[in-house]
Amino acid sequence: MEKIARVFIIGWDGAGNFVKAAHTPNLDRLIRMGTFGFDAQTVSPTISAQCWGSLLHGVGPDKHGLTNEIVSEDTYPENSPYPSIFQIVRDSVPDAKMVAFSAWNPINHGIIESSIGVHKVSMNDRDLSLAAAAYIRENPDLKLMFIGLDLPDAGGHQYGYNTPGQHQAIEETDENTGIIIRAIEETGLLTDSLIIAVTDHGGGGEHSHSHGSDHPSDKTIFWGCAGPGIKPDSPLQGDFVITDTAAVVIRALGLTAPSAWEAKLPEGLFFI
Ligand SMILES: [Zn+2]
Repeated sequence: MEKIARVFIIGWDGAGNFVKAAHTPNLDRLIRMGTFGFDAQTVSPTISAQCWGSLLHGVGPDKHGLTNEIVSEDTYPENSPYPSIFQIVRDSVPDAKMVAFSAWNPINHGIIESSIGVHKVSMNDRDLSLAAAAYIRENPDLKLMFIGLDLPDAGGHQYGYNTPGQHQAIEETDENTGIIIRAIEETGLLTDSLIIAVTDHGGGGEHSHSHGSDHPSDKTIFWGCAGPGIKPDSPLQGDFVITDTAAVVIRALGLTAPSAWEAKLPEGLFFI
């Protein structure tokens, strides 16, 4: 059994668990390779900065305090008791190569600390996926890569969540994800990487074209991962919250999570 040498997080904005209704061969392949669930939960309120903030900082919105307004304007404090997964890796591995490719730039600007040497790129989903694939091919020594694709949320706002219009946006996102997975595979990184696939929230709960409520349509998300030590083709067990992603990343890289984090490692996720 190989050790996990690096972690990829592939995030789809606003896809809820509506991926079940769309044709997503690339996501389906990851599901067969790993442990997956369609009933994981995100945090409240079900808004992007709060949810991505919880995923990356291992605590809920009441602790990290991030909102869409704050992350658009401010940078994340360097001395926070709730550092991001990038900060944890940087503190332990000073020369770790880390990157964030985020179609929604506020993730790069306001959620990931600005002074810890994370290479940050922001452009539209297709260009971003091509650039991320090129980066992977040129930098197989990377340690942690976050990729945030925005089209599912854009489709939800435009056509309504869990509608044929949004499903089409999800399918386009799956194609973009395929570009990234092919780069991982063709660079020989598939066998010793952990690949996490996740969405930050759903939508269409209280309002057909929006999100933010505690309605199950807004709160329920897909979450899964594949890689060394992860059981293939198996369901995610127990109650999983998006915040727990941070604990999975840090465990995968053999590091220690801060005691202030709320993120907990799902029982039995790693079998080694
Ligand atoms: Zn949105």
